[in-house]
Amino acid sequence: MRRPFIAGNWKMNLVVRDAIRLAEEVCECVGSIPDRDVAICPTFVSISAVAAALNDSPIRVGGQDCSQWNDGAYTGDVSATILRSAGAKYVILGHSERRHVMGESDAVVHAKMGKARAAGLKPILCVGETLDERQAGNTLAVVERQLRKGLEGLTHEDLAETTVAYEPVWAIGTGEVATPEQAQEVHAAIRTWLKELGGPIGEDIRIQYGGSVKPDNVGGLAAMPDIDGALVGGAALTADSFSTIVGFGAG
Ligand code: PEP
Repeated sequence: MRRPFIAGNWKMNLVVRDAIRLAEEVCECVGSIPDRDVAICPTFVSISAVAAALNDSPIRVGGQDCSQWNDGAYTGDVSATILRSAGAKYVILGHSERRHVMGESDAVVHAKMGKARAAGLKPILCVGETLDERQAGNTLAVVERQLRKGLEGLTHEDLAETTVAYEPVWAIGTGEVATPEQAQEVHAAIRTWLKELGGPIGEDIRIQYGGSVKPDNVGGLAAMPDIDGALVGGAALTADSFSTIVGFGAG
């Protein structure tokens, strides 16, 4: 039985003071939901302050990215080790905005996965096709390539600490959510590849869906057998909507 995992990606939003306030509100609204994991991912600059604001709450903090290199002369980058030292437990890697806006290749995402694991961070590996790739019938080929390259060389122990987020690029920030059936089709394929790579561990790895998840569509998505939670962008920016998504199906 996989424990649902809901993570909020705050992207490049919220000055530090507002990030602290939202973290406190999320804490209050989410309360204690013992049967799922929850994380929020602020900008690098707010990680320490948000980690302090969450104090002893079960909500964890994650980064939105980390460097592909170790500590050293890489101006502007933040290493996985530094991220961990600031209080992060998770890190989102291979988000489509990094792949498509910042031009990150599969090889770069793969290098970051290795650094994250070496630092003890739990990666959330994002995979997903663009609209053109979907329309050309290449969805599964693209997702399989991104997944295999991202996970290449990871030990079974590393795989057990990894979450995969299927995020169709055409659904991110567009309000156009994948139907539960569209998402499940890809999640089921990801599950098959995870089992090939990790044996029985593949059955336990959580696969989040991401792309315009909102309080009114999360229930249908979460009812699918291979959807184990959500990676939430826009709807994670208010405590109300995020806590409703976190609480789907609870109680
Ligand atoms: C995301 O940024 O990972 C995301 C899924 O965004 P949104 O929920 O706004 O589509």
